[in-house]
Amino acid sequence: MSNPSLLILPGDGIGPEVMAEVRKVIDWFGANRGLTFDVSEDLVGGAAYDAHGTPLTDETMAKAQQVDAVLLGAVGGPKYDKLDFSVKPERGLLRLRKEMDLYANLRPAQCFDALADFSSMKKEIVSGLDIMIVRELTSGIYFGEPRGVFKDGNERVGLNTQRYTESEIARVARSAFELARKRSNKVCSMEKANVMESGVLWRDVVTEIHDAEYPDVELSHMYADAGAMQLTRWPKQFDVIVTDNLFGDMLSDLAAMLTGSLGMLPSASLGSPMENGRPKALYEPVHGSAPDIAGTGKANPCASILSFAMALRYSFDQGDEATRLEQAVEKVLADGVRTADLMQAGDGTPATTVEMGQAVIAALDASL
Ligand code: NAD
Repeated sequence: MSNPSLLILPGDGIGPEVMAEVRKVIDWFGANRGLTFDVSEDLVGGAAYDAHGTPLTDETMAKAQQVDAVLLGAVGGPKYDKLDFSVKPERGLLRLRKEMDLYANLRPAQCFDALADFSSMKKEIVSGLDIMIVRELTSGIYFGEPRGVFKDGNERVGLNTQRYTESEIARVARSAFELARKRSNKVCSMEKANVMESGVLWRDVVTEIHDAEYPDVELSHMYADAGAMQLTRWPKQFDVIVTDNLFGDMLSDLAAMLTGSLGMLPSASLGSPMENGRPKALYEPVHGSAPDIAGTGKANPCASILSFAMALRYSFDQGDEATRLEQAVEKVLADGVRTADLMQAGDGTPATTVEMGQAVIAALDASL
């Protein structure tokens, strides 16, 4: 059988720096755990624009469709801010998400004990936190028609349409239930069924899918505004949260920041299963290309390394190896290794991107 395949798209700014550390981690799993991947690398974002005049070539798009998983760094930067919208770096990422039809965006909010002091919340509220927000990514109010700014009599009207089909809700609900089965078997679905018809349909469809296919998973429903309140009051009551594109956008940012630094946050975007049963998948850190620190060796590679851990778990069914990698990161933090974003003034000398990567490899070695 051939090796599973990975396409690495480092992108711009700190993207290539952090992905270089991910590459070392991938090699470590090949050398030490018999997990060998066929890895190819290509350009995306501003880097692709510089080389080809487009933020994503058709060839790279075709490669992304063929591989088992895509690992992306970050795209964008001030150099490209004045480009036409159609060739901006972000268009490359949007094209990947759209053409791969990545409808389920997984955003974990996990608080490493060593970083609990970094949260804006009280330590006892976030310490040990481990929740997963599943956000619908390809439909809802960001895509619904009609949309636009129109003239109505003497004034302008801004219009967006929240629209969900049954099948769009059903497929993201299935993603959430499948995930819950790999975790604590608990899903909370959030919408505004009290004031929105699309929320009524959302609640009905999630319940139908649950009752017919996942009766073993505990399901609850919450209005999204109450959900935001509960997430800040006692986030540990949740395991998997499934919600639409708009609410998910806000709730996942809120949940993510419970845990501290942007440099620690991974994400996955999953689509329908391919012929080999693996979902179409793109893994990327939540952060951007951080042009303010690009090239200085200050970038924290952990978000990207943890994104690869998500790939091990969700694309390659290697949950134990994913846990090994997450525990290696946790050990490094517990040992006090910190990049600059995880330090306060006067805390001493920060580790560089490469040193942080080396510390993770050393912790992986120690795990054997
Ligand atoms: P950003 O996430 O790049 O940076 C925000 C702040 O966090 C900066 O101070 C940065 O130095 C810091 N930071 C981010 N990642 C870090 C890391 N790994 N280690 C240490 N510090 C880190 O967001 P921004 O400044 O709003 O955007 C910069 C560029 O990135 C823009 O062009 C934006 O469009 C793009 N962007 C891309 C993505 C993506 O590729 N998915 C996401 C967000 C922003």
